[in-house]
Amino acid sequence: MPELPEVETTRRKIEPLLAGRTILSVTHDAPHRYRDTHLAHGRQVSGLSRRGKYLMLHLAAAEADGEEHDLIVHLGMTGGFRLEEGPHTRVTLTTDAGTLYFHDPRRFGKMAVVPRGVYTGMPTLLGMGPEPLSEDFQEEEFVRQAATAGAVKPWLLSQKPVSGVGNIYADESLWRARIHPAQTRLTPEEASRLYHAVREVMHEAVEAGGSSLGDGLGNYRQHDGEPGAFQTRHAVYGQTGKPCPRCGTPIQKIVLAQRGTHFCPHCQPRRTEDPA
Ligand SMILES: [Zn+2]
Repeated sequence: MPELPEVETTRRKIEPLLAGRTILSVTHDAPHRYRDTHLAHGRQVSGLSRRGKYLMLHLAAAEADGEEHDLIVHLGMTGGFRLEEGPHTRVTLTTDAGTLYFHDPRRFGKMAVVPRGVYTGMPTLLGMGPEPLSEDFQEEEFVRQAATAGAVKPWLLSQKPVSGVGNIYADESLWRARIHPAQTRLTPEEASRLYHAVREVMHEAVEAGGSSLGDGLGNYRQHDGEPGAFQTRHAVYGQTGKPCPRCGTPIQKIVLAQRGTHFCPHCQPRRTEDPA
């Protein structure tokens, strides 16, 4: 599943193809999944950004309404952009410079065009925490929230303490910080280690171009793609039974909050006593 680094990589790759271009049409046959895309027609793409796992195409105001809009894209499990049409093409986006195809074999991806900043129909986006690589992600605030949080991995996945951390990078960050995924109420030392681990892991993954990106447009490939550079560096994710890179203990997999969770039982022991 694409997480922040994969979405960021996609953004970087499609930005040169879209920035400054005018959208002529967005066509598809699933208006419930790709909402109000007709509002993008005739608008110039003023820029692209990313918020957590959401890709945002910023659209200039049209003469008719004078209002800037955003075309918001969530890649879902398997969504990605390509230059060629294929059997899993769901949306065709044509600009004055060319055409991009949104492929999505499993159809979990979504799009919506909304007036800039009006995210009322998108609770995840509305309640999203700070970007992990931005200055808004403050150690002090993270430590303060972590002191009263429930099980740490589901807390990270909620997107509230920090945005964009999904299953892979939650497992990797917790391993790096030596914290059990089910640990509750982190001590300030634990929370500080986790804060820095999240930043490091996300930074390295973004630099490496995400975990599982295929061709030059950053389409995510679940089954048949080339592994991304970061995938070869996973310490625990998908490494069940293999030796922990730090201590050699076999990596264990458990299910936590319905998510497959990988950790080293030696490096990440569950602390039972309450922090003083
Ligand atoms: Zn270990």
